[in-house]
Amino acid sequence: MLEQGAIDRLAGETIAPQGHLIAGKRVGGEASLPVISPIDGQAFTTIADGSASDVDRAVAAARAAFPAWSRSGPAFRKKVLHKLADLIERHALELTVLGVRDNGTEINMAYKAEALSAAGTFRYYAEAIDKVYDEIAPTGPDVLALVHREPLGVVGAIVPWNFPLMIGAWKVAPALAAGNTVVLKPAEIASLSLLRIAELALEAGVPEGVFNVVTGHGTIAGKALALHMDVDALAFTGSGPVGRKLLEYTAQSNLKRVFLELGGKSPNIVFDDVADIDKAVKVSANGIFRNSGQVCVAGSRLLVQEGIYDAFLEKLGATTAKFRVGNPLSLESDIGAISSADQLAKDLAYLETARSEGGSVRQGGERLLAETGGYYLSPAIVEGVTPQMTLSREEVFGPVLAVTRFKAMDEAIAIANSTVYGLASAVWTSSLSTAHTMVRAINAGVVHVNTYGGADMTVPLGGFKQSGFGRDKSLHALDKYTDLKTAWIDLK
Ligand code: NAD
Repeated sequence: MLEQGAIDRLAGETIAPQGHLIAGKRVGGEASLPVISPIDGQAFTTIADGSASDVDRAVAAARAAFPAWSRSGPAFRKKVLHKLADLIERHALELTVLGVRDNGTEINMAYKAEALSAAGTFRYYAEAIDKVYDEIAPTGPDVLALVHREPLGVVGAIVPWNFPLMIGAWKVAPALAAGNTVVLKPAEIASLSLLRIAELALEAGVPEGVFNVVTGHGTIAGKALALHMDVDALAFTGSGPVGRKLLEYTAQSNLKRVFLELGGKSPNIVFDDVADIDKAVKVSANGIFRNSGQVCVAGSRLLVQEGIYDAFLEKLGATTAKFRVGNPLSLESDIGAISSADQLAKDLAYLETARSEGGSVRQGGERLLAETGGYYLSPAIVEGVTPQMTLSREEVFGPVLAVTRFKAMDEAIAIANSTVYGLASAVWTSSLSTAHTMVRAINAGVVHVNTYGGADMTVPLGGFKQSGFGRDKSLHALDKYTDLKTAWIDLK
């Protein structure tokens, strides 16, 4: 149970300037970047602004640590990664408050989705890694063909500012469990909690150099990591344009493998025969507006069938109006801050474009609490959005819902599949045949039926089309961090 007093005490702590974490030591860079809190627009510490030579040092440390870590055996890695999970749980509130000050996610959500989720991820891969066997191929009798799984070497992980701990853990935990070493580059505006878990990893017994963090600009430190000749794989979550750059960088350097988890414009489709309209309204509102819509799988396109349209929109408007937008460190807030001034400006610009292209803002879309200096926006519902409009096609990554009315199932399928993205989706219906038809017809990595945002470590997450092609979570993620080697043994 979270207590406001404990949150406030942690939120009042001064945070010292933060260096990189390389080879087990905190090291400053030549330059630093201010860390601006979206809560009040004020800088509250600095992070090192990593250079290519900082990345070189981190990669060298990771390379040096690789032989011993990769040969340490699953039982050892399991033990220290379990210890890390314990430490993350023990420091969960501290990590959460640090992260919320950095990126503005409402604390109720961040506590579970960030710290506790990261602990669960480390525990899952710790527990899994001594249960994965190599294979003997079913060849003819005169030969023995062994299929070994080997770690790749040095993995570069580049992650975004939304849910940095959760997404960081999705990359770092399976990579380390499989015996790789890691250099992690967090987003410019959400590095603090990831630096802290790399420190906790040392305390847990992860050897120096196994898990390194280099902070700073994507265009400098991120690019240097992606171009590095001694990095064996890149695990990325972020935007499509940066994903494209990473593919160019790997082609220009050492053909390191790249796994991309990118954006979305996910359709949430409500049919006239929805069984429980109140549940559908509540879950749909949460599915787009929690964390101010800064969620890759957010149901940012709402498609409602004409028979239920008016009733649904009325209820949705009423539910949305009840969200309390405010200081993300307050337990009273349902929705926190927009992560940065740039993102707030982007959200407002998308709303302006939607109006100019013929959409009508039914409610919300106004800057709130400007007097605090922070970045707050009321959740916006935009009606009359056609599939051709910008708001249907481009990811806003903010609390902006595009609403479209449809008549028949075929039309809903065509609209749902009309973007370049294919990350998530949902269908609300009481017809088994509609549900199954839609699951087959929608081009997306996830199709929810009568729910939204279901998540469990046992289930892979990833997209189709330009939403990427990597898969985080579940045992499938281990495939990204291991290579197959065959030993062909003649028995004659
Ligand atoms: P972004 O692409 O701007 O940045 C992501 C990371 O890439 C950051 O660490 C950044 O510093 C780095 N980077 C930027 N330019 C780079 C370059 N030239 N070379 C190397 N690294 C570079 O994304 P963002 O704004 O931080 O995050 C939002 C995006 O992430 C959205 O598109 C969202 O949908 C996506 N996302 C996807 C998932 C998923 O699982 N598919 C999950 C969360 C977020």
